[in-house]
Amino acid sequence: MSRKLRTLRETARFDVCGYTKPVDLSYHLNSFIYPAVGEKGRVYRLFKVLLSNFCKANCFYCMNRKDRDYPRYRFEPAELAGLFFSLWKKGYVDGLFLSSSIDGDANNTQEKMNRVVEILRKKYNYSGYIHLKVMPGVDENLIKKAFKLSSRLSLNIEAPGTKFLKNLSPDKDFSALLLKNLKKICLLNREYPLPAGITSQIVVGAGGETDRDIMGFIFRLYRKFNLKRVYYSGFEPIIKTPMENLPPCAPLRELRLYQADILIKQYGFSPSELVFDKKGNLLLDKDPKLVWAENNPERFPVEVNNASIEELVRVPGIGLTGAQRIISRRKEKRIGSLDELNGIRINISLSSKFLTFNGRYFKSESCLIPSDENNPVKEEYEPVYIK
Ligand code: SF4
Repeated sequence: MSRKLRTLRETARFDVCGYTKPVDLSYHLNSFIYPAVGEKGRVYRLFKVLLSNFCKANCFYCMNRKDRDYPRYRFEPAELAGLFFSLWKKGYVDGLFLSSSIDGDANNTQEKMNRVVEILRKKYNYSGYIHLKVMPGVDENLIKKAFKLSSRLSLNIEAPGTKFLKNLSPDKDFSALLLKNLKKICLLNREYPLPAGITSQIVVGAGGETDRDIMGFIFRLYRKFNLKRVYYSGFEPIIKTPMENLPPCAPLRELRLYQADILIKQYGFSPSELVFDKKGNLLLDKDPKLVWAENNPERFPVEVNNASIEELVRVPGIGLTGAQRIISRRKEKRIGSLDELNGIRINISLSSKFLTFNGRYFKSESCLIPSDENNPVKEEYEPVYIK
């Protein structure tokens, strides 16, 4: 692998395009392939790379910041398009995730990124998945062009508000540069919907934000902008940056944010229902839905044969898919035992103490589906969609 490719795929690793395991980063550190979990839990192999790591900005946390002494490279659009296409043709990758630092000027960088995708679509007739980053503050005509070429667009909002962004990226104007552009993209997506929608990303653990700040912010973001997803990029200290001595974000914090995000986006929770510790953070040792259920005993037990889908998805161990399975099974017959729930792949070790069956309560002793609180893409949760 050339030094250029090695550098530009390694420096792309902080752009998140799917939830992987909280601690195992080895897979994408040692390869140009980045695994992202897609529909029905399928893992997609994305070629994730930067067009350039020259940057005019000086974000405190970033390995590509202007003042950092680090090797710099850039691809030419035709070169990168050809490289991706050869990897795809050999069957090594399923799609492309293209990002970049701001190489001189945001418009110029975006133009080159659009050109990579245009070459792939027009010269190579590639019709597969492309996730393209939008540079902060670019002109609308470039965004519109990106819309015509991509499967998904994303713009990193970076922080849950102006005061937190100032701690990370003092050069960037939160409202004028990030929020306004994200809004523009989301409005365009209503007119010309992209197959994989619009996503954004927040850096966690370096800007002084609490989980309560993040959840309140993303609640408004999902409501107003109809984003497909928000990704959480746990802060990692990078040497030769002003933040090199800060502690890294705990992988479990990232996981709890993903779990709480699903409660808000998919299960109808409001941020005020989530349980935070005294500092305003989610509890690390327990799934946020389980914490909510234990703090709201008056909401339980729920009768499995009568509960609405909204009530069922609030039961720990029952996700949207599980709740739908329960409802379709109820149409055939009433559910009378834990074994029947086990039979339709519901995690009874978590859910049984919150349920009754025709008014009766059973204690779970066995479970078909092991409880795995470290993986938010298990049965409890919907998969992290990339397309
Ligand atoms: S704009 Fe900031 S976060 Fe993005 S590459 Fe440049 S220094 Fe890094």
